[in-house]
Formats: sequence, C-alpha cells, structure tokens
Amino acid sequence: MPDASPSTATPLLSSFGMRKALVFDFHSLPLRPSSYAATLGSTVVIAPHPDDESLGCGGLIALLRQAAVPVQVVLISDGTMSHPNSRKFPPAARQALREAELRQALLELGVETSPVCLGLPDSKVPREGQARFTEAATQLQELFATVKPATILCPWRRDPHPDHRATSELVRAALTGLPVPPRLLEYVVWAWERAAPTDLPQPGEVSGWRLDVGSVLEQKQRAIAAHRSQLAPGVIDDDPTGFLLSPEMLAHFARPFEAYLEVM
Ligand SMILES: [Zn+2]
Repeated sequence: MPDASPSTATPLLSSFGMRKALVFDFHSLPLRPSSYAATLGSTVVIAPHPDDESLGCGGLIALLRQAAVPVQVVLISDGTMSHPNSRKFPPAARQALREAELRQALLELGVETSPVCLGLPDSKVPREGQARFTEAATQLQELFATVKPATILCPWRRDPHPDHRATSELVRAALTGLPVPPRLLEYVVWAWERAAPTDLPQPGEVSGWRLDVGSVLEQKQRAIAAHRSQLAPGVIDDDPTGFLLSPEMLAHFARPFEAYLEVM
C-alpha cells in the first residue's frame, strides 16, 4: 500500500478534552456481537490494495466464512507502488508477489475463491471523470450483477488515501442502476490513523457500529502477516524508500473489533 500524505494530519481522538469539538469517535460506536456477521449474507469485498481486506475487514471475512457465507474479494489496483524503485522486483513481479500474498491472506481467512483482480494502476486508480473510470465501474457492475451479493464491503468514502476514495467512487457508480442494490458497508483503514475532521463522518451522515472480532483476531493477524512485503524490508530488499506498515498503524488492527459505516 503506497503512502499518501493527508492534507491535514489530525489525530483521531475522542472529543474528550478537545475544545467542544464534535470529532467522530469510532471507539464509541455500538458494539455488535460476532454472530451479526452471518446476517449480512453473501458478500463481495472490495480492496483497493492487497492488505486492505485484512486490515479493514479481515475479522468480518473470517466470521462470514466460519458461517459458510460466500465471500468474493475484488482487488482494484495492481499494488505495484509500494516499492516503486525495486529492480529485483520489476512491476510485473511486484504485482505477482502482492497478489500471491493476497491469496495467502484469504486462505488464512477461509476464503478459497480466487480474488478478481482489476489491475488498475496503483496510486492512480481513476477518479470519476478520468480515463478508465467508466470501464472499471462497468466491470464492477457486471460482477455485482453476476455474483448478486447481499452486501458489499468497501473502504470508507473519505478514507484518507486517493485510491481508497477512487475505489469508493467506482463502487458507488457500479451500484447505480442495479435493480436491487446490495447493502453497502464501508470499512476504515487510514481514517484510524490520520483523518482530517472533514474526512470523518459528519453529524447525521452515517449509522455506524463496531463488530466484535475477538474470536477470530488470531486469524486476522495471520492474514495481515501474509502481506510480508508490506511488513518487513527483507522481502523486497532493494528499495529502502519502499512502503512498510508502521507499528502504530498495525496497532489499530490488533484490536478485537472493526468499525463499519453505513451512509443514511
Ligand atoms: Zn490501501
């Protein structure tokens, strides 16, 4: 997952102690039991990069599979920009490595169905109005029409990473026009770490909840660990400027709950 500088770095804190700020606090969302997962029905998980699925919703995926609910993962980007200067791993090899890591992560979560990989350019997933946007949205719409999921999991629409926002735009464009739109649940990745106030849900915008994933937390951690190239410099060892997930970032995903948002 390549890094992207946020416009404003604001720690995601509760409003406690802040000047009458009404900062949205993921930690205060109501907690739903793990048994809630199975009620979501067959699910398509949209990941902008390999690792977003494990970080943002790995616990929910494991719970869905535990309940024998079908899960199809769609990878949006080619994942090649985490280590753009590597010569040992030129772009095609980087893409292959990251997709192999994704497949391993999915096996850890109990997903045996191969992911669908759209291969859009990492860091340049098209926004609405840009080249390839309509084509990619149509691809997604055809997939939704074929798979007929009850639920779609997608990054929060203002998650502070350009590819995550672009992915949300693609998914919402694909959903427009479907006769029976699935339920859209938005998961959180970068907003845990560095959301500006405007990136967060505004009053009345969403109903949100947390899901108890304590019973599958070890599975989730194994899935995250499968993305080895994003965790240790020794996998792609010739790009010292390459991206690695920080311990601080990983700590957000070691908690026994995940947050989900539904726009009202
Ligand atoms: Zn990502």
